[in-house]
Amino acid sequence: MRLGILGGGQLGRMIALAAYPLGVRPVVYDPIADPCAADVCPHIRGEFTDYAALYQLAQQCDVVTYEFENVPVETARWLAEYRPVFPPPRALEVSQDRIIEKSFFQSLGIPTPPFAAVDQHEDFQRALAEIGIPCVLKTRRFGYDGKGQVVIRSQAEAEAAWLLLGGRPLILEGFVPFDREVSIIAVRGRDGSTAFYPLTENEHREGMLYRSIAPASNTGEELHERAAEYALRVLTELDYVGVLAIEWFQDGPRLLANEMAPRVHNSGHWTIEGARTSQFENLVRAVCGWPLGSTAAVGHSALFNLIGVQPEWKSVLEVPGAHLHWYGKEPRPRRKVGHITLNAATEEARDELVAQWQERRSGY
Ligand code: AMP
Repeated sequence: MRLGILGGGQLGRMIALAAYPLGVRPVVYDPIADPCAADVCPHIRGEFTDYAALYQLAQQCDVVTYEFENVPVETARWLAEYRPVFPPPRALEVSQDRIIEKSFFQSLGIPTPPFAAVDQHEDFQRALAEIGIPCVLKTRRFGYDGKGQVVIRSQAEAEAAWLLLGGRPLILEGFVPFDREVSIIAVRGRDGSTAFYPLTENEHREGMLYRSIAPASNTGEELHERAAEYALRVLTELDYVGVLAIEWFQDGPRLLANEMAPRVHNSGHWTIEGARTSQFENLVRAVCGWPLGSTAAVGHSALFNLIGVQPEWKSVLEVPGAHLHWYGKEPRPRRKVGHITLNAATEEARDELVAQWQERRSGY
């Protein structure tokens, strides 16, 4: 089997690394000259609208997946004429636009924060009156890691938010006073079989994932079951194949869907050491049409993103149970350049390792 991966960032790199042990040969496709996945597998350079280069990709693989959700839907549909493309292009279409995405969740009976589409200033006034302050104004498309969004806590902030973002298609969402953020990572095979990783608890800083704890602490079976059941509705509706992540705001016993990603997800990186089968291996198994691996957690994990900074390798690796994943990218402010997973048999032992790592990380 040869696997084509649209996008050559760290997710593409980790998918490629998971492919080799299964005898699958990865090739990444990316517009830039030296994407970090090109360190570990062949790279075809081309824009996502360069059909000659895309044809070359189709020639060099048996199945295609993607590592980021802003691949143009037309590109995925065009490639699907030549090779199977998983997850299905419709999953891209749904996840690329926050209004389509939230309407899709609601059509499946999955709760979301209140929201309204905002194009003109009058829509904004109407939506503010309907949803109320505090709220969050976001671009409908191309927002990630907290980019393209502003929290509004007063009328003055509302006007400032409009000056910053107005003129583009927007969404206004009610601000959810959540207890915490959690995510579920699900996988569905070509035969329709499904598996769900335990709920992960996520802490964001400045809109970017900073830390994940898995399995999420103090989580009853019921909450996990609810997230899995909602995710199953999405998988079934889209006749999905591959890995899907859904991020939630937890408000007491309620889960409100924030967004979905039709790909492997940052909050699932702990599965490399912390689950029987990693999200990356399960993606490869799913898209190749092979049996899925167990999604059970092995012990307890904490995942920390390295954002814009290079660690001191020795001091990280001295912590027992610490695993460093360096993506081979130049550190720049707000750029994810690696992650560290700490894994131990119990929650207490894991927290002890976290304390040890926090001590050593001072300075970055
Ligand atoms: P997003 O890009 O939509 O995932 O937003 C990034 C982060 O901003 C989320 O992980 C939350 O921490 C915060 N956030 C986004 N939307 C809301 C909301 N409606 N209510 C409260 N916090 C939000």
